[in-house]
Amino acid sequence: MLKEDDKSAYAKASADKMQKIVSFCKRRGFIFPACEIYGGLANSYSYGPYGVELKNNIKKMWWKKFVQERADIVGMDGPILLNSKIWEASGHIKGFNDAMVDCKKCKKRYRADHVVMELTGKDMEGDLSGMTKVLRSGLKCPECGASDWTEAKNMSQMFRTEMNAVEGPIYLRPETAGAIFSDFKNITDSMRVKVPFGIAQIGKAFRNEIVARNFIFRIREFEQMEIEYFIKPEAKWEPLFDNWLDWQEEFAVSIGAKLEDLRRYEHPKEKLSHYSKKTIDIEYNFPFGFGELFGLAHRGDFDLTQHSKLSGVKLEYFDAVNNKRYTPHVLEPTVGVDRLILTAICAAYTKEKVKDQERIVMKFPHSVAPIKVAVFPLLKNKPALVEMSKEVYDKLKTQYMCEFDDNGNIGKRYRRQDEIGTPFCITVDFESLDNQDVTVRDRDTMEQERIAINDLDAYLAEKLK
Ligand code: ATP
Repeated sequence: MLKEDDKSAYAKASADKMQKIVSFCKRRGFIFPACEIYGGLANSYSYGPYGVELKNNIKKMWWKKFVQERADIVGMDGPILLNSKIWEASGHIKGFNDAMVDCKKCKKRYRADHVVMELTGKDMEGDLSGMTKVLRSGLKCPECGASDWTEAKNMSQMFRTEMNAVEGPIYLRPETAGAIFSDFKNITDSMRVKVPFGIAQIGKAFRNEIVARNFIFRIREFEQMEIEYFIKPEAKWEPLFDNWLDWQEEFAVSIGAKLEDLRRYEHPKEKLSHYSKKTIDIEYNFPFGFGELFGLAHRGDFDLTQHSKLSGVKLEYFDAVNNKRYTPHVLEPTVGVDRLILTAICAAYTKEKVKDQERIVMKFPHSVAPIKVAVFPLLKNKPALVEMSKEVYDKLKTQYMCEFDDNGNIGKRYRRQDEIGTPFCITVDFESLDNQDVTVRDRDTMEQERIAINDLDAYLAEKLK
């Protein structure tokens, strides 16, 4: 057990680490507060030049693992604005709520279950009157110390808008799954998919969170990568469920997470939706504590049955071998792209001492690193070196995200690339002019090798594969 002093020291160190990561991301072009010149907008963020590369790499890796390399999973890309019947069928319009509570004195708004958990350690999600009672039993507002709470009440997380020529509100989708279920028939009609099979989608989702916090962990506009994996109703699903947990964890490890920083949280039976047989979250140990990264749920036939009911269109699978029609059940593995990016950044962020100097190095796995290779002329004012290094850069940039840099001394250029996690730096020096070779410096070992320019392609292909 940590003593109170140790606990607060630990909390402070965690907050410091998070603060360092947030300012590092801004300083080094990964993630910026959005529309900052206008004072920002409620915890919204933009991905900068390195952030967008990181994001694209993570999405590509996920697509490769779960679509390209899987004969049983196909992809799709549906719209953000969908027919509102979808959200009626899924229950989102009625029931996609979070509980909020305000401190009457300082007006700070909280998610009621989160503030109760923070102050008492009790999980009271869903119990509005219970939460109000506990808060009003003397719990103090973490912001101002007053004990004067409004009643906890539900607030919808759905963003509403409208569309020309369409009656009634339209919603920004709160998850990507809706489009997958509503296109189930199109996919089974047009593709030769056989149960078990999955449909995967990557795209934006929007939730009007009561409190957006912890940097990009909880934001209101985010991206999800979801799969609906359809199985026979009578299939023995438990081993497959475990496989999906392993595959999700493997993916987290492939973007740099350490296995010991991951843990599984099974939702207690009494908290599961009536249709769900089992739900497990995979959580990551962020600097602010463990938080959900992936979810995996057995959703039975709830979604297809609901969409059939409301659309009047049968959403069944035809088993040609047994000449049988049925509604498949579904396993739903899901993950947030932004939370994966935060994981990759937290896991890579390293401070180390090199010859009495401190360096920050982002130890991204090669596949995740935004820039793969940087090319430098040793000196900026020697045209022969600049010309040769530009030739090397022009050749490599057709294959990899590369950067050319001739600014400042070599040591500083290495440090800049270390900070953005570039695995290899290539320097063209005077020897290069005579020998047609370059030095290649490894980000992690900082060792340098001389490689013939003609062998660079093969060398990098091997190292970066
Ligand atoms: P939480 O309990 O953290 O609110 P959730 O259980 O509501 O998450 P799901 O509905 O399972 O989340 O959404 C699937 C995934 O989308 C989550 O595992 C998470 O990675 C991501 N996600 C959900 N809400 C947000 C958000 N506000 N910001 C960023 N990512 C999110």
